Amino acid sequence: MATKSFNSFEMAQRQFDHVAELLDLDLGSKDLLRNPLREYAFAVPTRMDDGTVKVFRGYRVQHNDARGPCKGGLRFHPMETLDTVRALAMWMTWKCAVVDIPLGGGKGGVICDPHNLSAGEQERICRGFVRQMGRNMGPHTDIPAPDVMTSAQHMLWMLDEFEAIHGSKQPGFITGKPVGVGGSQGRTEATGFGVVFTIREALKELDIRASDTTASVQGFGNVAQYAIRLYQQLGGTVTCVSCWDQEAQSSYAFRKKGGIDLGELLSVTDRFGGIQKEEACKLGYEALPGDAWLEQDVDILIPSALEHQITDENVDRISRHVKIIAEGANGPTSPDADKTIRERGIFLIPDLLANAGGVTCSYFEQVQCNMNYFWEKDEVLGKLDVKMTTAFIAVSELAKKRKMYMRDAAYVIAVDRVVHACHDRGWI
Ligand code: GLU
Repeated sequence: MATKSFNSFEMAQRQFDHVAELLDLDLGSKDLLRNPLREYAFAVPTRMDDGTVKVFRGYRVQHNDARGPCKGGLRFHPMETLDTVRALAMWMTWKCAVVDIPLGGGKGGVICDPHNLSAGEQERICRGFVRQMGRNMGPHTDIPAPDVMTSAQHMLWMLDEFEAIHGSKQPGFITGKPVGVGGSQGRTEATGFGVVFTIREALKELDIRASDTTASVQGFGNVAQYAIRLYQQLGGTVTCVSCWDQEAQSSYAFRKKGGIDLGELLSVTDRFGGIQKEEACKLGYEALPGDAWLEQDVDILIPSALEHQITDENVDRISRHVKIIAEGANGPTSPDADKTIRERGIFLIPDLLANAGGVTCSYFEQVQCNMNYFWEKDEVLGKLDVKMTTAFIAVSELAKKRKMYMRDAAYVIAVDRVVHACHDRGWI
């Protein structure tokens, strides 16, 4: 989340400016792409359970739709800002382009804390969001999906409101819906599994067996949980996970030398990925405050929480042992920390590539909704693997050929595709 000293949108623009230079983009292209096409800020008045009305702030930013309708998640978070949403919308444009799906980039958010809201209050926020924004969204314009602290249930409430307004069934309006109500098998797993598909490919390049590796994961929400599950299935050992402690309002890492037991930790975890400290300690986990997840002597770091987590303040604490960083979160690494990671020769799998599995599966969900025919889970995950692996290979081939950092190579491919689409449409 944005803090006083950090602005995600400035970071996204800095990243873009760097690629614009690499691609030698003209002024018009730069002007168009370093800012969103459209943005909306609005009030979501909501009846609370106690009868009062509370007004929440909502945002939706449509960064670019040259390659297809805008696509991207919707976050519920107390620290959401318009600039954070702008950055995330821009990152979605590049993410969809790097995995070559016919979608643009968008993002939304509501400033609220679901920890303190009943299910009914959250439902009314979802419906209120659609009432404010529905006329500017739709299956052919802008398609939301789950993100931080929103789930399949939130998506279904929004769909229901959208369909009530339009008087017709429109399952392509939103993705990440529950299976059985237009959702795709595998969507819940998709982002985390996608992260591990890219880690598997990176390990192949480095000629390291997954079963010989250890990992430390920041976050214990949807992305982290499924990344851990697949990585463990490949034979890897996760020795440390971290999460946000809502009560203490700080982060904690949970470490077990022989490796964490996913089922055991999940049994003491709330629906937001918060691990109960005392319960975990009773299960033999060591609880370490702060950024301990990042200081572990592991082969792989998987930041899967929020943006701006690896910064110039803690990057030097990354162990010499670390060979791969796979960015499960959006924008977890500040540009200064990124420079250090690059100089240290750590194999970085950048966010736009590493966590593209979620939106790729959202695209599959739309395809299935259009056909009204739904694939089995194996088929979905097989297609996801092909998309992720193809994208990984394209990025790593370019990185090798042009002796480029992985992040630069991913950006060059993505931005170039978007520029071409804008150019071919006659926008620039
Ligand atoms: N919120 C996810 C992301 O940041 C998925 C977006 C989507 O499925 O549209 O990539």
